[in-house]
Amino acid sequence: MSGNRTFTMIKPDAVEKGHIGGILNMIAEGGFRIVSMKLTQLTVADAQQFYAIHKERPFFGELVEFMTRGPIVAAILEKENAVEDFRTLIGATNPADAAEGTIRKKYATSIGENAVHGSDSDENAAIEGAFHFAGREQF
Ligand code: GDP
Repeated sequence: MSGNRTFTMIKPDAVEKGHIGGILNMIAEGGFRIVSMKLTQLTVADAQQFYAIHKERPFFGELVEFMTRGPIVAAILEKENAVEDFRTLIGATNPADAAEGTIRKKYATSIGENAVHGSDSDENAAIEGAFHFAGREQF
């Protein structure tokens, strides 16, 4: 059975451009309820840990630099079938491939600077949510 929570970040590119409100609006219109949310900034160690799965990839350094260059919004979202439905709402990693009506189609500018993160499995949603909100009563 699929779970009902996922984890998202509004990435530094979208925060810098003033798109927090627009993206939260698309999330709400997509039927997601915000369970926990905060404006924060990742340290280099945070970003290296969060994206550890990509550490051998050629873009890892660029990804860590990008994700730490400014504030992000981290949030836990709730909806039936949350992980899959949120991946549909955000669209493909590369905005050139993202479907019309998706968050990345509207707000992403490149495969790296792609505006939002969405967990890719229920297991990762729980790990990533705990990474940002562990110890919080609402998680
Ligand atoms: P996602 O699940 O759609 O976010 O995609 P991945 O898990 O494959 O990649 C994680 C993140 O790494 C992406 O959202 C991008 O921000 C970044 N990324 C992926 N591929 C590239 C790339 O080729 N170049 C750069 N600079 N960043 C990338």
